[in-house]
Order: sequence, then structure tokens, then C-alpha cells
Amino acid sequence: MAKAVGIDLGTTNSVIAIMEAGEPTVLVNNEGNRTTPSVVAFKDSNRLVGQVAKRQAVLNPKGTLFEVKRYIGRTWDEVKTEAERSPYEVVRGQDGGVRFVVEGKQYTPEEISALILQKLVEDASRQLGEKVTKAVITVPAYFNNSQREATQNAGKIAGLEVLRIINEPTAAALAYGLEKKGNETVLVFDLGGGTFDVSVLEVGDGVFEVRSTSGDTHLGGSDMDYALVNWLAEEFKKEYGVDLRKDRQALQRLLESSEKAKVELSNVVETTISLPFIAMDPDSKAPLHLEKKLTRSKFEELIDPLLRRIRGPVEQALKDAKLSKSDIHEVILVGGATRVPAVKRIVKEMLGQEPNESVNPDEVVALGAAVQAGVLTGEVEDIVLLDVTPLSLGVETKGGVFTKLIERNTTVPVRKTETFTTAENNQTGVEVHVLQGERTMASGNKSLGRFKLEGLPPMPAGMPQIEITYDIDANGILHVTAKEKSTGKAASITIQNTTTLSEDEVERMVKDAKAHAEEDRREREYAEAKNNLDSLRLQAKKLVDEATGVNDETKRPVLKAIDEAEAAVNSNAAKERLEELARALNEKVAAFQQAAQQQGQPQAETQAGAKDDVIDADFKPAN
Ligand code: AMP
Repeated sequence: MAKAVGIDLGTTNSVIAIMEAGEPTVLVNNEGNRTTPSVVAFKDSNRLVGQVAKRQAVLNPKGTLFEVKRYIGRTWDEVKTEAERSPYEVVRGQDGGVRFVVEGKQYTPEEISALILQKLVEDASRQLGEKVTKAVITVPAYFNNSQREATQNAGKIAGLEVLRIINEPTAAALAYGLEKKGNETVLVFDLGGGTFDVSVLEVGDGVFEVRSTSGDTHLGGSDMDYALVNWLAEEFKKEYGVDLRKDRQALQRLLESSEKAKVELSNVVETTISLPFIAMDPDSKAPLHLEKKLTRSKFEELIDPLLRRIRGPVEQALKDAKLSKSDIHEVILVGGATRVPAVKRIVKEMLGQEPNESVNPDEVVALGAAVQAGVLTGEVEDIVLLDVTPLSLGVETKGGVFTKLIERNTTVPVRKTETFTTAENNQTGVEVHVLQGERTMASGNKSLGRFKLEGLPPMPAGMPQIEITYDIDANGILHVTAKEKSTGKAASITIQNTTTLSEDEVERMVKDAKAHAEEDRREREYAEAKNNLDSLRLQAKKLVDEATGVNDETKRPVLKAIDEAEAAVNSNAAKERLEELARALNEKVAAFQQAAQQQGQPQAETQAGAKDDVIDADFKPAN
């Protein structure tokens, strides 16, 4: 089998690795470096990728594309803020997506990412002496479906067969776990150039289980760079009245020297930022120079708002995994920005232990991806990779209620089946509306898809037994099947990557659910009261219709109660009224049954008293 590589397609840097003699190994690029800047430049019809592209960025701010990962698989509306502060031109594509405009030509984020992948793979092929055609590519844990698909497409454009897209923290643990034997709970703290991910994993006996993930898609080393840029620009403006951020070239130079200063401050406590001829005095036209001393403590003060945002996701990941900091055996640092001393300090303080730095934070993700590539090509055995669902999955039942089948943070692969029934008599079809979220009403959650199960034989309401199965495979792909038991009629739908919503989306949905808990409970109780009365009414009607030899006198009170129930359901009467009518109807039905028995009727099989909820508008869980 052809060799397969693991690629960490990073926001700022990318790394490629391969299994060699049973060990994951980083491959150096043609420039002799182990990491390749994720930068692509276009200049006079020439295309540059990696270090050469990064080096000329100052002179070619409009033609140098960096951090394109922030844009991949996203819509223009989602990235407008980032686009506005970019030194290169980012525009809205006709399809609502993102396009980069360089020298009058438009490029998609996929095309640019493909160029980076191509460079990595070509250099690796040269080093290996054989063509690399298969790869495992990593993405942040919270990349949503479209971001993952776009990454996969970038691989395809680069001519690769993408064996699997895996989460970066999972890859890190995979690289790390290889040397481990016992069972451990590991927290992966990944602060890269553009994204922040926290994951809690169970590692042991060749099995990795992701217990929870959390993070911030807009937090990383480059935000620190921008914090520095803003400070430098403000100081400069105060002194000379010139805003350097308005000049593309000056901005690019500011960015570069800010990153350099940040990296230096990881090792020294003071540095100097020196940018000669950065601008011109608007009046005298004399050249202006920027020269600024920066101490580590001033830097820490400037990035303090960013550092504060580290805590939330760490706490959330622990909470979702139902663990406290003392349960964590090991903390793994991933991503270049974890080298910032203040970041390490916060991690240590929050988790009460020294983070493990035995795995190189820049390379660990690619190494893990190489291990996964080895697993998929059969080179590495006995490793199973498990993920969790970030949000609950379920179905819409009668009254717009969201009925959960799979709870949030359940380990995948997972399969759950529940039986539902119909709400109306002679219903020949049901619509299965698949949703994801934490709200109790369907309308508050994210719709993933709908399908119909049709051709059911006419049956009274509550009779059909419709089995709904939710099955999430190891790739996070959800298969939903609906099957009517008596006829064997079935229909299904497949939904890609339900485990991979964007972090923002997950956070928003969980917060929303909490904020609306009370309102949702009321809505749900109302829907239940209404469903209950409606189904009671149908069963009572059936009872009366089927009763032979019972006089009209006996039927009248039940029929009246049925009519009242119907009117109340149709006019959305208050919950108390619905409950009162349900109690009254039950009493009338009981009296009717007693009278019917006396008049020689056998005890009817159907006891009025609906206990079931119903799927979508015409569908409910059976007992
Ligand atoms: P990654 O996405 O993991 O490649 O991380 C890249 C980010 O880490 C960039 O923002 C780098 O500037 C930053 N970085 C790399 N090395 C250091 C360092 N020694 N100190 C501080 N930040 C660093």
C-alpha cells in the first residue's frame, strides 16, 4: 500500500509527517525546515508558497495571503470582521462565500489551501523518493461540516486522496498516547495561531476517547500580534498623528515585527521594535521611524483581555467531561502560542500542575495525523478513535416538541432506537424532522434534515409502531432510519459530520438552552397537555364509534366532552383548560364504559388515557 502522510494544515504554519519504522516522523521541506508557513503569494504572475512567500510579504502586502484557514468553508457574513482588518483583499463571492482578490484574479480559500498542501506533499515526495498521494489532514475540533468539507476539497484540489479529516487535539493525544501504557485522563490545551481548542481525553490501552471539547475559534497567537500592532499604532498616532494601520505596507511590517517581538518575549524579558522609514510626516514629508521598547510585563498587560478568554473553555471542557482539575493526569500543550510564559502560567494555575512539554507543540498534531494515517493504511494496529457529539440529537414530535434520542457529549460511534407512533387516524405517512440542540422545542434547535416515511396502511392513531434509529458512525456521520414494524416499510437519511459544529454554534446553542429553560418548559408542558387531550379525544371517539347496542343517552355526555375537547385543541385554549377537559373526558369515558358494560357491551380494549407524545406534526413516541 502506498505511503500515507499526516498533515497539520495550520492557520500560521503547516507540518507534514509520516510513519517511519513504526515511529511518526516530521518531514523537512525543501528549505530544510520542519514547519512551513501557511502563506501563499502572487507576484508578477509568479506563485510563491511557504517561507519565500512570508519573506516578501512586507513588499507585497496585497498579494500575500496568510491565515486563509480563518476563511475556509465559511460564509462572507461569518468572516466580515476578519476580512476588514486583513492587509489583502477579501471579498464576498457570488455564492455568499469568501474570495481573495490578487492581481485582478479571484481565489477561493480551498484553492489557496490546496497550494499549501501541494507544496508540503511535493517536498515530502522528494524527500521520500516516492510520490505521496494519500493523507490524513487535521482541523480544529470545532470546525463545522462545511469547514471540514472545504478542507477535504482543498486536499482533492491538491491531488490528494484524503483518507480522513481528524481533530487537532485528538491527533495530539494520538501522538502522545503512543508511548503511554496505563489509563490516563489528558487535557489537550491547543493555542495556535488562530484557534484555541481544549479537549479532555481518556487515553489508555491503545484507545483514545474524547470526553469533551471546547474552545474559541477566534483566539490565537495572531490576536496577540494584532494587540501589539494596535498598541504600536496608537502610540505612533499619538506622537505623529499618522495611523499606520491605514497603510497596507506599514501594517504588514507592523504585524511582522509584532510577531517577532512576541516570540522573543517568550525567552527574554525585554525587546525593541524597530521600524525605520515606516511613514512620512504629512506636512514636512520627512521620514518617520518607529522605535519602541517592550517589556514582557507590558506585553502581558496588552494581551490580558486575550488571556482572560482562556479560562472559560478550560472550565467548560472540564464541566462537560464531568471532571475536576484533580482528575486530570496530564496536560499537553499544543500550538506555538503556548510558548508564551503567561499562557503556561495560567494553564498551570488553573489545572494545578505543570503542563507536559515533552512533545514538541509545533509538531505534535502532524505526528498524530501520521499515526492515524498509519492506522488507516494498516501500519499501526490496535488504536480506536472515539469522539463525542457536541449537542443532543433528536426528532420533532407533535406540538413542535424536541424529543432527544442521543444526549450531548455521548461517545460516538453510537446507535439509539426509539419507537414512535402516529397522532391521527389513518395517517399514511410521517415526516421525520432531524434536529440538533439543547432547547426543548424543535423551533429553538438546528434543523439537520427531514425525510418522509410514506405508504403506511391506514391504522387508528397510536397503532403504528415506528422505530426511529439514530446511528452516528466513527466519522461523525449520522444515519437516521424510520421503520414501521408491522409492514417493514422504511425510509432513511444520512447527515454528514454532526459531531462537528462550529464552537460558536455549540456555545450559542447551549447558552440559549439555559437562557430559555423556563420558557421552553412552559411551551413543552403546554404542547404535552394539548397532545394528551387530542389523543384522548381520538381514542374516546373510537370507543364510542365502535360501541354497538349502546343507547344515545349514554353516548351523549362523552360526545359532548369530545366536541369540547376538539374545540379547545383547535382554539389553543389555556393549559389549565386543556387539563380540566382531559380530566372531564376521562371521567365521561369511564362512566360510558361502565354503562356500556351494563348494556351488554364487552369491555373495550382501548382505555382512554393517552400516555404517548407524538413524532413531528403527526407523530409521537410510543410507550
Ligand atoms: P501554530 O498554529 O501552532 O503554528 O502556532 C503559531 C503561533 O504560535 C503563531 O502566532 C506564532 O507567532 C506563535 N509562536 C510560535 N513560537 C512562539 C514562541 N516561541 N513564543 C510565542 N509565540 C510563538
